[in-house]
Amino acid sequence: MKYETVIGLEVHLHLATDSKAFCGCSTEFGQRPNSQSCPVCMGLPGSLPVLNEKAFQYAIKAALALNCKIQDLVKFDRKNYYYPDLPKNFQISQYDMPLSYDGFLEVASKERRKKIRIRRVHMEEDAGKLVHPEKGFNSLVDYNRSGIPLLEIVTEPDLSSPQEAYDYLTALKAILKYLKVSDCDMEKGSLRCDANISVREEGSSKLGAKVELKNMNSFKGVRDALDYEIDRQINFLEEGGKITQETRLWDAENGVTISMRYKEESEDYRYFPEPDLVPFIPDKKLIDGINEGMPELPQARLNRFLKEYGLSEYDASHLTSEAQTADYFEECVKFYPNPKAISNWITGDIASHLNLKNLTIRELGVSPEKIASLLKMIDDGAINGKIAKEVLEEMIVTGISPQEIVKLKGLTQISDVLELERIIEEVLKKNAKSVEDYIGGKKNAFMHLVGQVMRQTKGKASPAVVNEILKKRLKDRSS
Ligand code: ADP
Ligand code: MG
Ligand code: ZN
Repeated sequence: MKYETVIGLEVHLHLATDSKAFCGCSTEFGQRPNSQSCPVCMGLPGSLPVLNEKAFQYAIKAALALNCKIQDLVKFDRKNYYYPDLPKNFQISQYDMPLSYDGFLEVASKERRKKIRIRRVHMEEDAGKLVHPEKGFNSLVDYNRSGIPLLEIVTEPDLSSPQEAYDYLTALKAILKYLKVSDCDMEKGSLRCDANISVREEGSSKLGAKVELKNMNSFKGVRDALDYEIDRQINFLEEGGKITQETRLWDAENGVTISMRYKEESEDYRYFPEPDLVPFIPDKKLIDGINEGMPELPQARLNRFLKEYGLSEYDASHLTSEAQTADYFEECVKFYPNPKAISNWITGDIASHLNLKNLTIRELGVSPEKIASLLKMIDDGAINGKIAKEVLEEMIVTGISPQEIVKLKGLTQISDVLELERIIEEVLKKNAKSVEDYIGGKKNAFMHLVGQVMRQTKGKASPAVVNEILKKRLKDRSS
């Protein structure tokens, strides 16, 4: 029997507000445990929540960017459950009237574009964090995270492979980062993803029972967990098993999923309207304002880069994957209007430095203006491309301008023809065998000779001039 995969994703996102969703406590990450909590976020009797306006605006912004309709009435509900990290015994969430619904996100996966429907985007609050020290028998609780505003983004079961899920998450993160509504940092827990997956007979219109996967801490982890789970479910079915709805945890170390609990139904949460937050009609002017202030989103920017700068799809998508990189690129182009050359440097040398040092392009500390003057120096013949790479490295380490580095290190290109002729003459004398080979028809020998000249000049020779003189000299010798 042939099977097909059905996947739906639930993403939880910390909204990047300075204060919590319903109180004034700070949301700053990594502070002393319980230094950022108050009666409201700890649910002490008599405390009352007040909605954070900024969080609401961020939520609307994300919902609009995901093409969602905004609910006419904003209403919050209590989701009731008991857990030590939840002192109120309920979470403020949204149940039957999510903030927004019926959106979509277009995902480019394997050369084709696919619309993934977004079922709902709603607001809720995070719970605290349990800490289990390695030594001792006690567990500790930190309420700094309680009440941090969350956005939950739920897709329809429209994804049909682990790779597609990965691509959806990548596209979603790009949009959210462009909007600056979240830092989307999975390591800090500001983006978390639960993946729902089922398999069914190919072509069947009925959904199989789904398994919810939790505990993945990277997009790659999500993809790996889904890959594993597909095999597990198919093998289980082939052996005559029947899949029941359950929640499983991804164990990244061993590369397996482990059953955690048979899933509760939403009835179990006894949702009811939050009586302490009055439902309200969102201000139309506010929504229009957010819509008008919407930045150019990654997909639109990519299309513009293709058209306006004539870049390849690969380069344009690399440059637009983060707003910061795209901004940097466009600033460079202002100073040095050769988009292709700049793109090559950003996607090539600069990208490798960033990877190596694990930095963002701004953190590299080299201004677009300095990149532009580096490239101008190549055009002016002051340095060649190979030396420019060295200069870039030096710019990153020292922060000084390319002109100064070239002066200080004596890297100016030798394009003095007389001096190059002298050096080339020497090289030809020392490499009589290569000269013979070249004249005898071995064209590779030419590259060897160029290499020798470059070595003699410590890479500072102008390749164009060297090529020209060498060709002329070799021609003289063969005739
Ligand atoms: P629950 O009520 O258990 O949270 P939902 O119907 O709200 O379930 O769906 C939660 C997520 O699971 C959604 O992203 C949805 O697309 C996905 N989903 C629902 N049914 C299936 C299924 N049979 N296979 C894969 N994903 C599914
Ligand atoms: Mg759900
Ligand atoms: Zn608080």
